[in-house]
Amino acid sequence: MELKGKRVLVVGLGKSGLAAALFLREQGARVTVSDTRSSVALAGEIPALLEAGIMVEAGGHGLLTFRRQDLIVVSPGVPLDTPEVKQVMAFGLPVIGELELASRYLHGQVVAITGSNGKTTTTSLVGKIFADAGRSTQVGGNIGLPVIELIEKSTAETVNVLEVSSFQLETVVDFHPQIAAILNLTPDHLDRHGSFEKYAAAKEKIFARQTTEDALILNADDRAVQMCAGKTKSRVFWFSGTKVVRQGAFVRDGVVAFIGKEAGTTEPVMPVSEIALKGAHNIENVLAAVCMARVAGISADSIRSSVASFKAVEHRLEFVAKVSGVAYFNDSKATNVDAAMKAVASFEGGVHLILGGKDKNSDYAQLAPLLRERVKAVYTIGSASEKIVRQLEGVVKMVTAETLENAVAAAAEAAEQGDTVLLAPACSSFDQFENYEHRGRVFRELVHGLST
Ligand code: ADP
Repeated sequence: MELKGKRVLVVGLGKSGLAAALFLREQGARVTVSDTRSSVALAGEIPALLEAGIMVEAGGHGLLTFRRQDLIVVSPGVPLDTPEVKQVMAFGLPVIGELELASRYLHGQVVAITGSNGKTTTTSLVGKIFADAGRSTQVGGNIGLPVIELIEKSTAETVNVLEVSSFQLETVVDFHPQIAAILNLTPDHLDRHGSFEKYAAAKEKIFARQTTEDALILNADDRAVQMCAGKTKSRVFWFSGTKVVRQGAFVRDGVVAFIGKEAGTTEPVMPVSEIALKGAHNIENVLAAVCMARVAGISADSIRSSVASFKAVEHRLEFVAKVSGVAYFNDSKATNVDAAMKAVASFEGGVHLILGGKDKNSDYAQLAPLLRERVKAVYTIGSASEKIVRQLEGVVKMVTAETLENAVAAAAEAAEQGDTVLLAPACSSFDQFENYEHRGRVFRELVHGLST
């Protein structure tokens, strides 16, 4: 795609939008960026953009600005039903995202991972397995560096391990990973995608361009993911935490095993007991990673040592401290009900669970059976409190704590030796925090404050 002299508009000036704008400019395009935030809010970014010769439209979108372009690059944070974007799409102007733009210029292999939960954990693990095995590896996408920033160092030998979100996949056209994985599909972000079907359709774009040469790794225990097998041309490998699969990775007698092309030859990879991550959901992530690595020809021995030394990613069921015999776990990244359920299910019982934040139109009643089984009390925080209490009233003891500070104090007070205090809020953080990282950091500080 020749960019020289082309008029390109970048919509949304987040991390990837900024990277895209600078890249396009370097390629000789005539670049404008448009963001609804005010020029005051964008004061940090504007000087560098102007210096690079990029025009900036702040404080809203002008339809004329949009109409005047040859190409529109939309950031993942910008909904495709933004009126100006809808209009130019209706006019037939090409609208793509940063992932699509970047993948047109990226060299080497692409290993792409999507799903509702577990993307970051699995992507980091896969990156480590490939790097430990001596492959020239870059990790990016929805995690760390935007894909655009991986272009410069990529060569024919590079393996680009990419975490890709549904928002990034919504705007791909020719994106073509040689190895792709869909970890799971549970309702999330329905506030933006509109329906589960539309959300699933966005995720399915990960394999839309794959051929019989490529591999698609699917979760055999997830109904919506299973359905993808009938829609793809690629070689399908399955992973399952509960049963033996025809081709792919599974657990039998406490051992992670892999069956490759020659079905019937089961190859042991490692004992489950050597996996350093906590929880059944993380075993699923490991199984998906094993599939990707074996498909790429990495030896079982090498995979085993990489997995055994891989610790939880920050804010993902991360152990914080033990205070007075009570363990504190930070799973601030559990921003939906499914992730919170997986977190609770990782403990046998005695859990004091902190739930709440900004509601995403979720059904918290799904938590009831697990709460009865393993949770002593729920402490609610943030604007979703009232709804959570209403949906879970009578299931376990409910404490309306309002703030994280109150919740930690009340849980610490109530918890007995051997119990666990778990932050797995099932909500986004934007009502009281900047983001989930901020919420997780505050939790850690509060816990460390308890021990002094
Ligand atoms: P993502 O990048 O998809 O948000 P993360 O690895 O950051 O995934 O994990 C997000 C949340 O989901 C965390 O709370 C984590 O403990 C939980 N989680 C991780 N893997 C899984 C899985 N396979 N299924 C369900 N929940 C998971």
